Amino acid sequence: RVVVVGSANMDLVGTAPALPRVGETVLGTDFVMVPGGKGANQAIAAARAGASGAFLGAIGSDSFGVTLRARITAAGVDTSQLRVTYGSSGVALVMVNAVGENLILVTPGANASLTGLTDAELAAVRDADVMVAQLEIPVETVTEAAMAARSAGTRVVLNAAPARQVPTELLDLVDMLVVNEVEATALTGRGREAPEALLDLVPRAVLTLGADGAWYVDRDGTAVHVPAVEVDVVDSTAAGDAFTAALAVAWGEGRDLLDAVRWAAAAGAACTRRLGASVALPHRAEIDELYAR
Ligand code: ADP
Repeated sequence: RVVVVGSANMDLVGTAPALPRVGETVLGTDFVMVPGGKGANQAIAAARAGASGAFLGAIGSDSFGVTLRARITAAGVDTSQLRVTYGSSGVALVMVNAVGENLILVTPGANASLTGLTDAELAAVRDADVMVAQLEIPVETVTEAAMAARSAGTRVVLNAAPARQVPTELLDLVDMLVVNEVEATALTGRGREAPEALLDLVPRAVLTLGADGAWYVDRDGTAVHVPAVEVDVVDSTAAGDAFTAALAVAWGEGRDLLDAVRWAAAAGAACTRRLGASVALPHRAEIDELYAR
């Protein structure tokens, strides 16, 4: 069992030939509305990767909340502990131009209200083999969940995204850190030249490097580079979410960690073959197929 504690957003994505400037109105070409937020993405990714998984998060009392719950549930995620708070859901307003550049405004809405975890929410954390969290909800909440996880032997995977500094109080509870280069730099001041610098903070870490694969390092002295799986890349959005979730699923299944990282790399690569975020997250069969290559 994997439990994901994190954010859920409705992504409202509009496409136009060119992005509007301040004060300007531009006529667009396409619009899609898709579930997003790193928490929801990773919960969906974990379910597709084959875990029985629950999502702890907060949606608003608006129509976006209703749709978010329906979509996350339809992906096979247990949303029985998903909170509804009065007000707006988290929303990402995304504008994309003809060459793929974007402007993104995220209003956290209900995600900001996810504090003071209930007994039932904490029990869901304790019942899991692995807990996965990111930093799009209040960091105190992540710490609270990680403390519950620790007390029950649930392994704590922290995807320290988006990039920011993380309190020592939380880092001390982390079993496995997953960061990309920007996030690693925010934590250690050093990027791909020194993945082992992460071991000053946590006992095990993965540094993901997009098409350059990933480093796995731990305090037992392991430092292994896992190459990326070669695929025809369409859009690398959410590759990190697919990677983190697959890593947690494989680790929860008791697989050897290096093997889990290789499987996660296959999941990240699979995700880049399709346009979009949550819609591009791979199922287990596709991950297995790329892993076997
Ligand atoms: P994030 O999306 O968090 O920035 P990365 O871009 O580092 O994360 O991607 C996470 C993982 O997904 C990488 O370590 C790699 O295994 C896989 N991946 C990402 N981009 C590619 C790519 N272009 N080709 C193959 N694998 C990729």
